[in-house]
Amino acid sequence: MPTLNDLDHEVTHCRRCPRLVAWREEVATVKRAAFRDQTYWARPVPGFGPPDAAISLVGLAPAAHGANRTGRMFTGDPSGDFLYQALHATDLSSSPISRAHDDGLELHGLRMTAPVRCAPPENKPTPAERDNCRPWLATELTLLRPTLRVVVVLGAFGWQALLPVLATAGWRIPRPRPKFGHGMRVDLPGPDETVLHLLGCYHVSPHNTYTGRLTQAMLREVLTEAKTLAGLSCP
Ligand code: SF4
Repeated sequence: MPTLNDLDHEVTHCRRCPRLVAWREEVATVKRAAFRDQTYWARPVPGFGPPDAAISLVGLAPAAHGANRTGRMFTGDPSGDFLYQALHATDLSSSPISRAHDDGLELHGLRMTAPVRCAPPENKPTPAERDNCRPWLATELTLLRPTLRVVVVLGAFGWQALLPVLATAGWRIPRPRPKFGHGMRVDLPGPDETVLHLLGCYHVSPHNTYTGRLTQAMLREVLTEAKTLAGLSCP
């Protein structure tokens, strides 16, 4: 079994999905006008956060001009701006602003990851691409298992993609499979009889945050519940 550092390094070299490899590299060549002087990361984005995290936050996939540009999850786009405000307010990050991979920001007790590590066109990976990427997340969660107590899942895609990964990593999933919902909580027994708490939360995409479907108060409430369930002190 690799270490988390090994895994983070290995994933950045993955080229298993030809469509996503072509897209992440094309975006980095065409660029968005505001970033035309920057060199895009244009590779798979590894997880971000401490290796002994008690909470994992699972999104969908990197944004073309966000993490695919900066090389760090939820960094450099409106989704990240919204998310880090809430993470900082709940003392899960050292800063409310996440702009670059070398800005010194640290996460406290939380590790971010995603079921798909390359930016997909229109933010829509295919089922085959999701399945290709599954082993990366399964290995990451297996490595986190000794300390992991809570997973916050952002959105229905992440929820559906995560359940089989958790089963592969050793947790027992009820039948029928629980459906995603904001505020949904499911407790999953693990192989060593510890319980993993799964919490659903609407995704932090502008589609949800600009329309008020997901507010800062709603997100902070989920993060505070995650901290309480994980046994971390709340601000
Ligand atoms: Fe590899 Fe995952 Fe990127 Fe596909 S999406 S190329 S499996 S890292």
